[in-house]
Amino acid sequence: MTTKEGGKKAGTVAKYNTNLRAEVKTYVSADPRAFVHSREWKKIMAGDPVEINPSVGHGMKVMTVTEWSARWKRNEDFPDCLACGSLNTKEHHFIQTWCRGNRKWESETLCLDCHNFSWRSYVDPEFTTPAEHEKERWGKMLEGNKALGVEN
Ligand SMILES: [Zn+2]
Repeated sequence: MTTKEGGKKAGTVAKYNTNLRAEVKTYVSADPRAFVHSREWKKIMAGDPVEINPSVGHGMKVMTVTEWSARWKRNEDFPDCLACGSLNTKEHHFIQTWCRGNRKWESETLCLDCHNFSWRSYVDPEFTTPAEHEKERWGKMLEGNKALGVEN
């Protein structure tokens, strides 16, 4: 299993957003659904200072939405805002998990025009967590032993 946060997996044959076999769940909200940045977003909306990115400076500053989100990039796979259709969006949350070739991912973008967040999440129908997979494997092994008459 591999989990990557904040970046797309490069150089792999399968892509997170191609040959989707289930529906992408979507959700539009005025506040981020992802926990990341949710406290800062409240401050930005209230006009309170937020922490300056360490690569730019230090301390706190009152920022506009554009200034605050300047380092985020648009997700070219899902560039449109689910609320107003604008392409003026920035992705602030992306996480994908691969387990034996099955995928699970979530993405959330902020629209700079209407300030709504667009959430998208997807999971392959066969996706199981490594823990679930282990349990299944043990279950099958025990069943197999019973069939062979092996004492447990
Ligand atoms: Zn919008």
